[in-house]
Amino acid sequence: MEKKEELYEGKAKVIFSTDNPNRSIMYFKDDATAFDGKKKGTINDKGVINNKISSEIFRFLEKNGVKSHFVEELSEREMLVKKVEIIPVEVIIRNIIAGSLAKRLGIEEGTKPGEVIIEFCYKSDELGDPFINEYVARAMGYATKEEMDEMTRVAFKVNELLSKFFDERGILLVDYKLEFGRSAEDNGAVLLADEITPDGCRLWDKVTKEKLDKDRFRRDLGGVEEAYGEVLKKVTE
Ligand code: 5GP
Repeated sequence: MEKKEELYEGKAKVIFSTDNPNRSIMYFKDDATAFDGKKKGTINDKGVINNKISSEIFRFLEKNGVKSHFVEELSEREMLVKKVEIIPVEVIIRNIIAGSLAKRLGIEEGTKPGEVIIEFCYKSDELGDPFINEYVARAMGYATKEEMDEMTRVAFKVNELLSKFFDERGILLVDYKLEFGRSAEDNGAVLLADEITPDGCRLWDKVTKEKLDKDRFRRDLGGVEEAYGEVLKKVTE
């Protein structure tokens, strides 16, 4: 697959076109940002680790019936993906209260809610990914009702599969963000897209509750590379 031109550079990845109009190449960088890009840094070999973690997870999900943009791992930092138009609605799943919800509700991090929580945000760096709901998404044309229904259904299915996947590996899947895209093929079918890595998931050691994710970078806790390496080891063992 021939890499052609750069289509888009994000905070952690670069997307390239290929000689196949329905395929893109996703290149994983070491750049790390937090607080809507206000905090910047790099995490050594994050790109390599995240490409491996994400590939492993997409393969696991595919085997269990979740359709994603993943095609294959091309190299250390490159993943071949189906070309999609990203739906500008971020889907957040929370199994344990942490982060912005802990702050918003004035509840201690680590509290287990009575049910799994789903939230939606409008994907916009300038606005800081504001919290929205399904009505806003539909009324503003960010996504159709059918797309919101499909994203919700898939997010809950992913949660069942991944909660168990991480639990079996000694990790608590606290919360995470999912993104979806409209496939360039199949009449714009909704596919799980982007990445599933410690950049966008809160992952705690099941026993010690030690943080194994980007909160180590966000909150200057140190040991960032080690934590990402630990997740890779557990995901691939
Ligand atoms: P919170 O709303 O607590 O900040 O985030 C909830 C979860 O979604 C966390 O696991 C966080 O990593 C993820 N998340 C939310 N927004 C973003 C985002 O813009 N980028 C990334 N990488 N993750 C996000």
